Amino acid sequence: MKITEHINNAKKPLFSFELLPPMKGHSIDQIFEAIEPLMEFEPPFIDVTYHREDFIYKKQPNGFLEKVSTRKRPGTVSICAAIQFKYKVDAVPHLICGGFTKEDTENALIELKFLGIDNVLVLRGDARKEDGGFIPEPGGHSYASDLLQQVVNLNQGKYLHEEYSGSNGTDFCIGIAGYPEKHFEAPNLKTDIRYLKMKVDMGAEYIVTQMFYDNEKYASFVKLCRDNGINVPIIPGLKPLTTKKQLTLLPKVFNIDIPEELADAVADCKTDKEVKEVGIEWCIQQSRGLVELGAPCLHYYTMGKSDTIKRIAKATF
Ligand code: FAD
Repeated sequence: MKITEHINNAKKPLFSFELLPPMKGHSIDQIFEAIEPLMEFEPPFIDVTYHREDFIYKKQPNGFLEKVSTRKRPGTVSICAAIQFKYKVDAVPHLICGGFTKEDTENALIELKFLGIDNVLVLRGDARKEDGGFIPEPGGHSYASDLLQQVVNLNQGKYLHEEYSGSNGTDFCIGIAGYPEKHFEAPNLKTDIRYLKMKVDMGAEYIVTQMFYDNEKYASFVKLCRDNGINVPIIPGLKPLTTKKQLTLLPKVFNIDIPEELADAVADCKTDKEVKEVGIEWCIQQSRGLVELGAPCLHYYTMGKSDTIKRIAKATF
């Protein structure tokens, strides 16, 4: 079922969460162990992140160059299929520009359709660490909006090659990312919102936000979106703080603010165990506040730590 249908049918705010595929060498049981404790909160959908495929060339003893993948977390599509099969819950694969040619994207979308997946979260994707900025794949997309256009085209039965066009297309419900404190590359929030609006006008049906720690940021983002004609559901993304290191790391990586009260409380903690308690309590208060603000669904970045999210969900839903 489409995310928009879940939202439209809901009588109360929904609970959903995001998982990362396990690192290579680990079992899919990690995923199931993260999901099972959260099933009691009846998530209508679960997101699975995508980690780009990149290659480096390594010189072999015989002098030849070997093409080696640097991807550490493969398996997004098969994990989504396994989730839908095992739990009868809609799985939402993240679909990115990085590492994909347009042909790769078309084939991936066909594969998702055949697996019975109804939703995709369309993103540009993170840059490779070595690149210092996003570099598109030759023959791929530069922005999420370009990728979105391809999904919209395929939904309309328009394939890359004319010979297939007019035949069966796909029917994905398309989500996109939103940044209440602006995307780190955007010169200002208004410009960022202009591109967000462009994506909604092109066919994106819902927005999931970057994490934030001050609900006022969500409220003003929603207002700015509405004032600019963006009327699709805006799902807040939440990530409880669990380590002291995150106090400096998250603002740097995600261009987000940590409110003074939370930052001081974390700074006063002697151990990460104490930080986790502070983070959980803060996230419970945030979650309750977002329900009051009328958020259609609360979406948690679990990082595989379901015990933390379980405590927050128990106190909220
Ligand atoms: P875009 O919409 O392409 O925007 C990127 C920047 O370019 C912004 O500054 C925007 O203002 C600007 N811009 C947008 N369109 C245009 C245009 N047409 N012309 C000029 N400028 C433009 N990354 C992963 O690698 N894998 C994941 O699974 C993943 N999941 C995520 C889930 C969520 C909910 C969020 C919020 C982020 C996720 N990310 C993921 C990270 C995301 O890919 C990065 O934040 C990336 O830098 C931007 O993605 P985007 O889709 O917002 O990009």
